[in-house]
Amino acid sequence: MSNAVRVHELGGPEVLRFEPFDPGDPGAGEIRIHQHACGVNYIDTYFRTGLYPSPVGLPFVAGNEGAGEVVAVGPGVTEFSRGDRVAYVSALGGYAEERNLPAALAVRLPASIGWEQAAGMMLKGMTAQYLLRRTHRVAPGETILVQAAAGGVGLILCQWARSLGATVIGTVGSREKAELALAHGAHHAILYRDEDFVARVREITGGRLCDVVYDGVGRATFPASLDCLRPLGLFVSFGNASGPVGPFDLSLLTAKGSLFATRPSLFSYVARREDLVATANELFEVVAGGSVKIPVHHRFPLRDAQRAHRALEGRETTGSIVLLP
Ligand code: NDP
Repeated sequence: MSNAVRVHELGGPEVLRFEPFDPGDPGAGEIRIHQHACGVNYIDTYFRTGLYPSPVGLPFVAGNEGAGEVVAVGPGVTEFSRGDRVAYVSALGGYAEERNLPAALAVRLPASIGWEQAAGMMLKGMTAQYLLRRTHRVAPGETILVQAAAGGVGLILCQWARSLGATVIGTVGSREKAELALAHGAHHAILYRDEDFVARVREITGGRLCDVVYDGVGRATFPASLDCLRPLGLFVSFGNASGPVGPFDLSLLTAKGSLFATRPSLFSYVARREDLVATANELFEVVAGGSVKIPVHHRFPLRDAQRAHRALEGRETTGSIVLLP
């Protein structure tokens, strides 16, 4: 019998229960993974509170990301065998010592990528890949704004966007976070709890404003994020750390300069196996090449998932958080 962190009723961090959990034998098309590190992501809190409904109902094993080795394969699996090092992002089941996973969701880890690094980067790094390379293809000379730039996705976005030749402006919640964002690719850091970030963006860009705003903060930075965009600029709302953006009148986009807006999700971008593998491979390349480093700043034992969620929601963390089984 192994252990996992399960949610039996929706709520705050206290509903995360570390308890015995037997995933059973892998079914057809599945692999069983002995996990060495599990990623912690903001999306895990959305499933915990019910903001995003669990596709398997209650109870469910929390978590959406992990890295480990294959210890068993189910009928029909040909791509993986025992001993393979793999990582994945998936809907739920991540906070576990052992889990079963559809083999189609797993990617093979290069030998150069460690367990913690993998669990700290698959979801956040593949998100950065699609945001910077597919939602909008960031080009040299462009200026982008990254909200919550010192967070897990934020620090990866800043480094990667800078390596693509963009000027990167990041917003952050404290002076320490500003230092960190600047050390990870941001050219400018704005303390958005103390300063009017729209006025600062206007000042930094000499009134030209940004080509793209990447906003994972949600409610608290909307609609001000739109005011940071040049006419015909792109608003990418990719998360809800402060709560979801509420309904708004589409003509707001007209009034703010014929803006474009999108609300993307990684899961649409990697739904096809070839896209998943290509996205992961591009991430592995930028990490192996050194242009993107994965800052794993927080490690908790798996049994302390509650503490990890409190820290994440309390804005105490920077970079990536992993749970260690
Ligand atoms: P982060 O490490 O970025 O943590 C969230 C950060 O948001 C905090 O550290 C804090 O930084 C900032 N924040 C601003 N307001 C609040 C608030 N009221 N409560 C808590 N935090 C706040 O998390 P992740 O890297 O895991 O995720 C970042 C965002 O990206 C999330 O919104 C997540 O849902 C989204 N995401 C979306 C994906 C997609 O495909 N759509 C995929 C992956 C992530 P500060 O103190 O500097 O303000």
